[in-house]
Amino acid sequence: MSSAAGTRDWGEPLWRSRALSPAAQSSPRVSDVIVVGAGLTGMSAAFHLARAKLKVTVFEAAALGEGASGRTGGIVLEGTATGVRPGADNCVPSLAKLVDELGIDCNLHLPGCWEIEHLPGSSGSALPWNDNGDPIRIARTVTGGSVEPRALLFGLAEAALQNGAIIAEHSPVRRIQLNNPAVEVANDVIAAAHIVVAVNAWTSALLPGLPRIHSALTYACATEPLVDDVLRELGLAEHMPFYTADRPYLWGRIARDGEVVFGAGLKFGTPEELERARIGDNDSQTILQGLARRVQRLNPALARVRIRPRWAGPIAFTDEALPVIGTYPANPAILIAGAYAGHGVAFGVHAGALIARRILDGAPLPEWGAIGR
Ligand SMILES: Cc1cc2nc3c(=O)[nH]c(=O)nc-3n(C[C@H](O)[C@H](O)[C@H](O)COP(=O)(O)OP(=O)(O)OC[C@H]3O[C@@H](n4cnc5c(N)ncnc54)[C@H](O)[C@@H]3O)c2cc1C
Repeated sequence: MSSAAGTRDWGEPLWRSRALSPAAQSSPRVSDVIVVGAGLTGMSAAFHLARAKLKVTVFEAAALGEGASGRTGGIVLEGTATGVRPGADNCVPSLAKLVDELGIDCNLHLPGCWEIEHLPGSSGSALPWNDNGDPIRIARTVTGGSVEPRALLFGLAEAALQNGAIIAEHSPVRRIQLNNPAVEVANDVIAAAHIVVAVNAWTSALLPGLPRIHSALTYACATEPLVDDVLRELGLAEHMPFYTADRPYLWGRIARDGEVVFGAGLKFGTPEELERARIGDNDSQTILQGLARRVQRLNPALARVRIRPRWAGPIAFTDEALPVIGTYPANPAILIAGAYAGHGVAFGVHAGALIARRILDGAPLPEWGAIGR
């Protein structure tokens, strides 16, 4: 049984919260496809399926944006956490095309992304930062950029609604019936020809017998808005997002009003434990205070900057960090995508489109994403 009851206390992210248009509230009806989970994966699948005239109902345990996709850093990256792979080599241009086609105002900015690394004992550093004593250099620039993730998510949701999809928020699926695919929601059992399970860190709570999917909370914080002169002092005048290719891990990006968002840290737990974890818990506070201190020491220009808001969000990954995208062995009418590690913004949207294509015309899913591979 799922634990995703929608009572999360993971802090408010920087990203502006929104409400869905009233069309979302229509009651669920007979559907060709049920999508469980309204993150980027689920909303992309719902949009692509609804646009092809299938009847689609999305069940979301919490409010839209309360999973990873509304809490993410929003760094847009190509391929998967294990690199570019067949079937996952065009995620960034596809995202740009979709955003343009749907006219989503989500500040998608694609200048590339810096892979940075620590240089122990070296004095040379392309970035004027000092991370606990180590200088940092830019190792390479990879394809990508950044996006305002809630705006992207809500843009996809509105596009799905306009094409006739139904989105039922605060409607946790308690169980999935495997033989004749159906979901148990509140006191109803609702059947569909296909069920798309796009619940990311909650996957193992809803479907048994999958390869090991680890779930964790990961953390982020944002500075107050910084003026261009300060961003220049920090080496961030070009608004390039960045992530470390080595440890200790750190990622960051500039947001719309000049806030710099930084993230790091993991707290592992089962989906049930994560659901119960609170931003005020000792573990979360220790991680967030450590992150804020680390940020304030990176450069003197950050020393007195206010670091608020601070928040957490769920991530999931497999042992090899390869995403799961495939059909459920017990019943191929059930499709699953998730566990992208910290690499699911562009790939999640792409995975939703791949799942839709599989349902619509039987297009193969990437072999490397198969369950039980
Ligand atoms: C803090 C943070 C920073 C990150 N930074 C980046 C980044 O910069 N770049 C990047 O590429 N990736 C990043 N990631 C990862 C990326 O955000 C995720 O991989 C991606 O958003 C996953 O999308 P999803 O739709 O698969 O899952 P989610 O967005 O988590 O959506 C799953 C949804 O399923 C719902 N759900 C769960 N159980 C049920 C149920 N039983 N019934 C109904 N609904 C249910 C949840 O409420 C949730 O809304 C980050 C993640 C976090 C948390």
